[in-house]
Amino acid sequence: MKKAKYIFVTGGVTSSLGKGIVAASLAKLLQARGYRTTIQKFDPYINVDPGTLNPYEHGECYVTDDGAETDLDLGHYERFLNVPTSQANNVTTGRVYQTVIKNERRGDYLGKTVQVIPHITDEIKRRMKILGESGKYDIVITEIGGTVGDIESLPYIESIRQLLWEKSHENVLVVHLTLIPYLKAAGELKTKPTQHSVKSLLELGIQPDILVCRAERPITPEIRKKLALFCNVQANAVIEALDLKSIYEAPLAMLKEKLDKVVLSKLKLQSKSEPDLSQWREFLFKLEHPKSEVSIALVGKYVALPDAYKSISEAFIHAGASNDCKVRLTYVNSEILTVENVAQKLKGFTGILVAPGFGHRGIEGKLEAIRFAREQNIPFFGICLGMQCAVIEFAQNVCGLTGAYSTEMDPNTPFPVIDLMESQKDLAQKGGTMRLGSYDCKISKNSTVMKAYGKSLISERHRHRYEFNDRYKKQIEDAGMIIAGYNPKTGLAEIIEIKNHSWFVGVQFHPELKSTVSNPHPLFVKFVKACMEK
Ligand code: GLN
Repeated sequence: MKKAKYIFVTGGVTSSLGKGIVAASLAKLLQARGYRTTIQKFDPYINVDPGTLNPYEHGECYVTDDGAETDLDLGHYERFLNVPTSQANNVTTGRVYQTVIKNERRGDYLGKTVQVIPHITDEIKRRMKILGESGKYDIVITEIGGTVGDIESLPYIESIRQLLWEKSHENVLVVHLTLIPYLKAAGELKTKPTQHSVKSLLELGIQPDILVCRAERPITPEIRKKLALFCNVQANAVIEALDLKSIYEAPLAMLKEKLDKVVLSKLKLQSKSEPDLSQWREFLFKLEHPKSEVSIALVGKYVALPDAYKSISEAFIHAGASNDCKVRLTYVNSEILTVENVAQKLKGFTGILVAPGFGHRGIEGKLEAIRFAREQNIPFFGICLGMQCAVIEFAQNVCGLTGAYSTEMDPNTPFPVIDLMESQKDLAQKGGTMRLGSYDCKISKNSTVMKAYGKSLISERHRHRYEFNDRYKKQIEDAGMIIAGYNPKTGLAEIIEIKNHSWFVGVQFHPELKSTVSNPHPLFVKFVKACMEK
């Protein structure tokens, strides 16, 4: 078995430079050249995983097939590579310490003092190598969260230094993503912050091999030379990364800069044929040349931060392109929607999506948005909490069950149409205890979703504690809302639909997590189509 090669992506100068997109773009190019590539993210915070974080902290929580609650960058990795990630692809400082402390309690360290070096760094290195040693990949790209120089990321940088020493530069490569700011007053791009950031890395024993330089303006040959000379890298290893219209242009921009070629030559890997990006280019062409346009409202309560609904907005980009249609997605704050203003606030939208979420805040507005979509025959898509709200709204306004609710919002409701899952009732711990990851769903014949999927057994990812209460199934179905999909093992309702409506679908799972550039999700594709036909 050939040994895997490791590429680390670190960040300098400032956060939010797009390390995840650079890592995903490089991975895409290497994959398109025939190398089995995966990406993992190491986050220096102390939460064991991001599952307990408010979306306003780091954006949405992305869920893998095997039920890991992870950083949203893993969503980019999957959307670019079309290869599922797993528990092993996201590691946090909290998780590393949890393992080391557990080992210590078991007595594994034989009376030694447990320290950051070597015990924490050994555990980090072990986790850095897990995917590489699985035999499934030729190249493992590891994105290190945070910015070089942060106290929290020191053990990670030290672990990379040790791996470099163990495996040499032919097998381990460091790509440093940095910012070259443009100073208007001076009329110049400035290299000093990058020089300082590389110096910080050097102090920690790491000479980066490649600099990827984010810049608003093209990097002149002089600046390139300056960066190469003062940061001690080869001139062809200074890669320009200009701002782009869409993140999906990044692989082609990196290809133009020959990032993949430089990487392969440094890792002494053959740069076989040119990468096959025909499907990717076709997607980009469709994205840039839409023939029609729809306007969709995303109704949710985390609207101030676009990253809170990242996978949903990306799924609409994939679905739009596949329909040759531009999807204009507008975030509508559910907290401001009322019976009085809903018609005016949602005027002009050709489709309404009610987003996932937790807790009571903004619920009434979601129910109003759903009633509006149902009564006005506007295509509606409800995801997780959005599906649960569709059931509540239907129970209240169509079945006449006044006060019907989810026990999450009203524990004393007379009609708990959505209730806590049996398996959740005795749980005291919050972290990692929801119903997480992939479960099968059996779809009914003649349903709207059957037409979308084209098959009767599907598997989708989940993240919830509450479920449709089967006690109300008959009453709800008799009134015209059907259970169009359920878990074949437990009977849990997974999909609801309303007949005689332009498109009204609610799903307990998160289809957005499985939409990729090469596989746009069928429910998003069909929802956009229904909006186009409206
Ligand atoms: N709060 C709901 C539940 O826990 C929905 C969760 C979600 O939308 N992801 O079941």
